[in-house]
Amino acid sequence: MYDIICIGAGASGIFLALSLLEKNANLKILILDKGKALTDRNRKKGADVVEGFGGAGSFSDGKLVMSIEREYGGNLQDYIHDLNLFQTLMNKVDETYMRFSDKKDIRVYGDADRDIEKIKMRAGRAGLHLLSARIRHLGTDNNYEILKNMFVYLQNKVDIRFLSEVCFIEPKDRGFTVGIRDLANNNEYQASSKYCVLAPGRRGMKFFKKVAKDLGLPLINNQVDIGVRVEFWSHVMDIVITMTVRKLQIRTMPCLFQPNLHNLSMTLLGTARQWQGSAML
Ligand SMILES: Cc1cc2nc3c(=O)[nH]c(=O)nc-3n(C[C@H](O)[C@H](O)[C@H](O)COP(=O)(O)OP(=O)(O)OC[C@H]3O[C@@H](n4cnc5c(N)ncnc54)[C@H](O)[C@@H]3O)c2cc1C
Repeated sequence: MYDIICIGAGASGIFLALSLLEKNANLKILILDKGKALTDRNRKKGADVVEGFGGAGSFSDGKLVMSIEREYGGNLQDYIHDLNLFQTLMNKVDETYMRFSDKKDIRVYGDADRDIEKIKMRAGRAGLHLLSARIRHLGTDNNYEILKNMFVYLQNKVDIRFLSEVCFIEPKDRGFTVGIRDLANNNEYQASSKYCVLAPGRRGMKFFKKVAKDLGLPLINNQVDIGVRVEFWSHVMDIVITMTVRKLQIRTMPCLFQPNLHNLSMTLLGTARQWQGSAML
């Protein structure tokens, strides 16, 4: 019997385990993921891209958004109303990533408030709305190394099973029984725990919906962010780039209907800025 079973070894599952162990190192925790161990994942192929240790973000370039602004980076504020607590938790996440990072000089973008205000005003004059946020940019390779270090830390403290797909969850004896399909050996078995945490990400959305339905839990839809990348000549974005990014590949992309109108809904590579709207250039 486990204290906690967590379904999903993405960022949520990993941080759940790290936080619980910090409070009580004796907790018996089982993490189940239908994907593979990090080093067995093929970053270019099929389900491996989003399943397994580290979840969907394992091969991302690791941008940690540390902004309280509601326009940028999710809707956690809907659940944590105390902004001081919100800030403290964001700092804790950042500190944790840095604790597991071998590389310590990782830049935070978006701290130059006065310069950013100037750009915001210029953007406003061009009919653009500049969203700014503090962002720690871990980088793709470093993000991967951090996850590797997290796994090394957790592997002897937590029972982590890969290629283990959870098919059902049943409340039983003031706890939960979880049905697991062992994808490597093609058999099924069960495990029990006092508490069960669902962290299956977008990949496990159908499973999540089914469990919620089975347990009679209400569901709400939240927003899905879609990133569109538009690249510009450096002289167009020079002032933003000098202050916020180290490297940027730039090409213009004229609007299909009006060749002199360039769409500006973009997230700059490795930066803390996002432009929304469009402008005549
Ligand atoms: C290409 C890319 C780049 C990104 N870049 C960034 C970024 O720079 N900054 C940022 O903040 N966010 C980024 N994100 C988003 C970020 O990765 C997600 O918000 C984050 O991974 C969500 O974590 P999670 O643990 O909730 O879910 P996930 O990471 O999706 O993990 C869920 C895990 O649950 C497992 N699972 C699902 N169903 C089951 C089941 N039935 N049984 C067992 N296991 C199951 C899955 O295999 C998966 O490993 C990026 C995402 C992608 C795809």
